[in-house]
Amino acid sequence: MKNKKADFSEWYSEITKEAELCDLRYNVKGFVVFMPWSVISMKKMYSVYERELEATGHQPAWFPALIPESNFHRESKHVEGFTPQVFWVEHAGENALEERLAMRPTSETAIYQMYSLWIQGKADLPVKIYHPSQVWRYETKATRPFIRSREFYWIESHNAFATFPESESQVDEDMRMAENAIFGHFGVPFIFFERPQWDKFPGALSTFAADTMMPDGRVLQLPSTHLLGQNFAKAFDVTFLNEKGEREYCYQTCYGPCISRIYAAVISVHGDDRGLVLPYELAPLQAVVVPILKKGSEKEVEKKAMQLSDSLSKKGIRAKADLSESTPGFKYNQWEMKGVPFRIELGAREAESGELTLVRRDNGKKSKVREGELADFLSSESASMLADMKKKAVEEFESRLSKAISLKELMGELEKGRLVSVPFCSNGMEGKSCAEELKEKCGGDVRGTRHGRKEKAEGNCVVCGKKANALVYVARQY
Ligand SMILES: [Zn+2]
Repeated sequence: MKNKKADFSEWYSEITKEAELCDLRYNVKGFVVFMPWSVISMKKMYSVYERELEATGHQPAWFPALIPESNFHRESKHVEGFTPQVFWVEHAGENALEERLAMRPTSETAIYQMYSLWIQGKADLPVKIYHPSQVWRYETKATRPFIRSREFYWIESHNAFATFPESESQVDEDMRMAENAIFGHFGVPFIFFERPQWDKFPGALSTFAADTMMPDGRVLQLPSTHLLGQNFAKAFDVTFLNEKGEREYCYQTCYGPCISRIYAAVISVHGDDRGLVLPYELAPLQAVVVPILKKGSEKEVEKKAMQLSDSLSKKGIRAKADLSESTPGFKYNQWEMKGVPFRIELGAREAESGELTLVRRDNGKKSKVREGELADFLSSESASMLADMKKKAVEEFESRLSKAISLKELMGELEKGRLVSVPFCSNGMEGKSCAEELKEKCGGDVRGTRHGRKEKAEGNCVVCGKKANALVYVARQY
């Protein structure tokens, strides 16, 4: 395998191919076939996220993939932002359609007209609905499997409230869900930023988005959550009757964790130069038994290997005995490449004594475990494995954070692959021209101000030299 740190791009291409995560040979540009080894993990990621959503009172719904063009034009900023990325359906069978239909690039304009029918009185609020789906965007940037392609798999959540403060609390709840799922279960660290006004979701008042760091020092955006205010409610007539008997527009939020992209972060952050390292909860296969055969005892060892994997399977552990023809060494490499968290090495001595040798994928640690204690051992050791993976990921992430007070310093830090805080004139529209100049000179993007910490800017904007009003973070991005 390529070296992940020195040559991340090659490493990424190699791992997605060798671990059989996707197939790029599909004959529509920018569209990728996701294969079982990645889809099994992504389905588990969906269920983690859906549990979070349901635990906070969200209910599932499925909305149509096609959206009439006229819906798109109802919110002007939104149409401006998304129209260049839309795939259009213009024919059905032999007939040209009277109105073009958009293949949803996101579903606000499909969902909110329904909300205007569903929401009448205050008793109908809040509405908290999530929609697991795929969406299509005609991306013009270079595509990479899982990171960016023209079809991706995500969850959208769309909420409506009677008051603005409730919608603000929703945005906080969305960020907590991201923390629980993406860091808590998947072990990927990130920071939420309030995006600059020039980089918010089209039609939103403000956008909060999580960034993680990829091994090449570029940031990858994970979920974002948006305060929509009443902008869409006015466009789609989403109203309720308040206590005074007056019609009032709802306050809305939307949230979009992209599962296929979070998966890209999981494999990139945890993987190493031998292949995937997967959190136990997400691994398609959690333990593999590799028999080590010597002449004379093959039958017993193979039988024992089958027994072991059967008994683990009965306890709900995803296990398998690898009885294929290859050598044990070949099998070790192959299952390491696939990121199976535990390998059980089973020779004649182990088969007879019932004392097993287990090897952990993330750090190579070997343990001796009595057969009867195997399931308990996996359950406790997998928890410490996730804790260790998180610790390592956090250390790596924090080593990437740095500061600069001039453009020259900033450029040097970006070269090192860092996420750099700098004094800046404004995170509002006034800062846009400085951000453009910064991008041109250093190739870095302004990610916004750090959410939840009132970080004060001191000194002057690194671009225009005016007194700084915001401490913003800058990085190269995917
Ligand atoms: Zn400035």
